[in-house]
Amino acid sequence: MSLVSMDVLLREARGQGYAVGAFTVWGLASIQAVIAAAEELNQPVILQNGPLELNWAGARPLALLMRDAAQHAKIPAAVHLDHGNNLELVKRCMELGYTSVMLDASHLPFDRNVAAMREVVQAAHAGGVAVEGELGRIGGEEAGMNVNEGDAHLTDPEEAAEYVKQTGVDALAVGIGTVHGFYKSRPNIRLDLLKRIAEKVSIPLVLHGGSGTPDEIVREAISLGIAKINICTELVAAYNDTMVRQQTDEDFRYHVPGIFTKPRTAAAELVKKKIRLFAGL
Ligand SMILES: [Zn+2]
Repeated sequence: MSLVSMDVLLREARGQGYAVGAFTVWGLASIQAVIAAAEELNQPVILQNGPLELNWAGARPLALLMRDAAQHAKIPAAVHLDHGNNLELVKRCMELGYTSVMLDASHLPFDRNVAAMREVVQAAHAGGVAVEGELGRIGGEEAGMNVNEGDAHLTDPEEAAEYVKQTGVDALAVGIGTVHGFYKSRPNIRLDLLKRIAEKVSIPLVLHGGSGTPDEIVREAISLGIAKINICTELVAAYNDTMVRQQTDEDFRYHVPGIFTKPRTAAAELVKKKIRLFAGL
């Protein structure tokens, strides 16, 4: 049994100065890729999905697949809901055995964000489930919702400290200039701001919009308190681009191993590259 709470993984990570990768999975092949990569490097990992994948695949099959993979993994693995966009979805995922949940109430004013999170934290903690909150707004597209640059805003350190105190969340996603999806222009990641947030907030911090963020910035962010890094777009791209490319291979055949093995291997390679970076291997 290696299914663990994300909370345990992240506390240890922040304490020891590394980060755990949280990879978006959408079905069997992607789950296998992430677990195989983590096992090969003997590192903990987080399997996660948000409303897009949950609507596409169904919450129940995804939960069953992820929990089973985590339980039988040789490394500790957590099962997390990313960007839960309403309370019903959050509660549904708790019932299905997700070990942690995120409610993204970051579009609400501070007081309403706090009130919504308090409700989630109370219900979650009663069931032994950990909670990730978000303060500040991360730009780009997530869960089918587009946050344009004008609406994205950065996390205020004082507010972050107050938010953590009032809500009791276990991990905090911060807005420091990363963007969901691939960057369209050179990102301006505010490590100075992260440093100020980390001085005021002792719980593990989460970096969203990790895809395409330069390695040296990722390393620096980890040294400043980032303990969880979300990877979605790069993983989907590694899988899909390989799937498309292989169709011109001479030995390409329309049967299940012929179609899905190379994309799964490419996804696992991407996950290994990220885990090495996050763990400082
Ligand atoms: Zn995100």
